[in-house]
Amino acid sequence: MTAEHPSFLPREGAMASAIAAHAWSRTPLGPIEAWPELLKTAVALMPESRFPQAVIWGPELVTLYNDAFRPILGAKPAPLGRPFSEIWSEAWQDVAPIAAAAFEGRATYIENFPVFIDRHGRPELAHFTFCYSPIRDAQGRVVGMLDTVTETTATMLATRRLAFLDLLGRTIAGERDADAVMAATTSLLAGHLGLSNCAYADMDADQDGFTIRGNWAAEGSPSIVGHYSLADFGTLAVRRLRAGEPLVVNDNLAELAPHEAATFQNIGIAATICMPLIREGRLTALMAIHDKVPRLWSDYELALLRDVTERSWAYVERVRADADLRRVAAALEELNATLEARVAERTRQLEETEAALRQSQKMEAIGQLTGGIAHDFNNLLAAVVGSLDLILHRAGDAERVRRHAEAGLAAAGRGTKLTAQLLAFSRKQKIELKPLFLSALLRGMTELLRRTLGPMIRLRLELREPDLRILTDATQLELAVLNLAINARDAMPEGGDLHIASSVARIERDGVLRPGSYALLTVADTGEGMPPEVLARAFDPFFTTKGVGKGTGLGLSQVYGIAHQAGGTVRMESRPGAGTTVRIYLPLTALEPEAEPAERKAEARAGKASILVVDDDADVREMLVTALETLGFSATEAGSGTAGLAALEAARPDLVILDYAMPDLTGAEVARLARKRWPALPIVFASGYADTATIESVAGTDAIVLRKPFRIGDLGAVIAGALGRPELEPGRG
Ligand code: ADP
Ligand code: MG
Repeated sequence: MTAEHPSFLPREGAMASAIAAHAWSRTPLGPIEAWPELLKTAVALMPESRFPQAVIWGPELVTLYNDAFRPILGAKPAPLGRPFSEIWSEAWQDVAPIAAAAFEGRATYIENFPVFIDRHGRPELAHFTFCYSPIRDAQGRVVGMLDTVTETTATMLATRRLAFLDLLGRTIAGERDADAVMAATTSLLAGHLGLSNCAYADMDADQDGFTIRGNWAAEGSPSIVGHYSLADFGTLAVRRLRAGEPLVVNDNLAELAPHEAATFQNIGIAATICMPLIREGRLTALMAIHDKVPRLWSDYELALLRDVTERSWAYVERVRADADLRRVAAALEELNATLEARVAERTRQLEETEAALRQSQKMEAIGQLTGGIAHDFNNLLAAVVGSLDLILHRAGDAERVRRHAEAGLAAAGRGTKLTAQLLAFSRKQKIELKPLFLSALLRGMTELLRRTLGPMIRLRLELREPDLRILTDATQLELAVLNLAINARDAMPEGGDLHIASSVARIERDGVLRPGSYALLTVADTGEGMPPEVLARAFDPFFTTKGVGKGTGLGLSQVYGIAHQAGGTVRMESRPGAGTTVRIYLPLTALEPEAEPAERKAEARAGKASILVVDDDADVREMLVTALETLGFSATEAGSGTAGLAALEAARPDLVILDYAMPDLTGAEVARLARKRWPALPIVFASGYADTATIESVAGTDAIVLRKPFRIGDLGAVIAGALGRPELEPGRG
């Protein structure tokens, strides 16, 4: 050992110090201060390089190296100053030719050179990328070699590991069966690592019992499938695996207690790595690789098994979850299918029932209608037949014959009236749909409604939306409102409130109406209301609870008709004692309503003219009288042709409105008789059904006909026209 630090070496660094301190005099190199300059220079180049470097000098291959080279040597004992061939004795077979080449003057560069080395007390496969290059002296003789090297073991193992995991991934991808996944995994891993067995096991809930469910066994190795107790494999196995640590046994005979080793030996195993799989804190599964002979397991094998266990189990869990899901998606599908079928079946039954119900309701309505008509006809036929019978028997008694004939005619007249009603009902009323402002129409009816309702009933109009445009027949709609008002009045004999409102209703889901905005006309009274059985039939034509001559049972069916013809509907709510609310929904229109014709405004010009209304229908008569009074006329009324003639005589009206079909004298007969007496009397025929031709044939072509139903405006215009005709100037006697 020299006292002085060699000047060609830095003072810092472990290897610089070690080289400085080494007893070189005991080596073929001799004392350091006596080294040839070339050796000093070569060695001087190394200490501060970060690249692993070694200088191998002389025929004895004396080895010197730097700090960066030390990890490559691992735990090799005292390598400094020893021959390179000794240091790498385990690999010298592979390395010698390359070193020899360098000493012969040929440099060699090799990438990822695989070599089995022993630097940690066990052989391991390592990879190096290196260059052995000759060191020449001044005479050109090779006196040593420089080894510049990097270890690529980690990179190579990572590449290998990735290549294997990639192969494994591609092999099991798309595999839908958990056992098939594990079978492929064990066989690939066994092939890759050269194993005798590769197995996987599910742990029992007690974390001791386990079942090896699948096993790859090399030829000559027994299958180890079966149920085992972990405890039998030794306390080390139990401790490590439950803690989530792998059990690594290189040679069970050497490392384990004899009875524990026996458990392995009995199934033909000498070396084992057993990898635990912990899920939610519990030892859930195991994967193990075995060899039938003792084997020093490498870090690579341990790491790879860890990877494979995690990955393949994750995949198995997914496959199992998928399978469960498929069983549930399948069960659901079946459920769905049967549910759909059941719903379809129900719907069909629901529709059939509904159709049957509708049909039976229709039949009932027809039955009731026919029954009612038959009943009425029977009564009047009885009267006609009876009268004729009596005439036949009392042919001689002129006075009685006249009375019976009158009675018979009256009965026949009722028949005519009934027929007329039926015709009016059955014939599609000619309706004219035109755009109009709902609120304006209602406001225009205020006076008529007040008079119809009388002083006992408070009328409240709430017309919130002035711009509600609807497409409907104005005449029919006015009539509908009037019908509702009359019903309300009848339901409030002691008086009450009638509320009429217009608003907008938004319909979203509805069995009848399409979604959209509708004009809503509400007519609500505080009257006696209806019991459910009356409410259910109130819209039926000819259904009435009112006495003979009081109700026709056609009011609400007219309301229903106009609402539906305009594309809307009508709904009614009522309870006994709680009043009735009728709601008419009418589609809104964007069309612009026409301005009211100018002549309508001329209605008041008729002034104080007096008018006689002759109609046998009390409702119509009352409506006409109210309408006329609304228009500013004074009106009188008569319920039959005969009474009409008497009233003409008594009241000398300026104009007469005649119903055409009346039981005793028809309107035509009354007109003929009246014309004889008062030729200039203006006559207006109010007719809902009779042909104009029939009226003209009996009353002349200048007959003025007011079609029932009519609007108040029409009434005013017709009367004004009739009164305004010079030739029809009322004659007053
Ligand atoms: P009518 O008024 O000629 O009887 P409708 O078709 O107008 O015929 O009405 C049918 C029946 O419905 C009435 O007879 C009555 O029993 C009932 N009804 C209609 N409107 C009301 C109402 N506002 N309040 C109570 N009952 C009513
Ligand atoms: Mg009515």
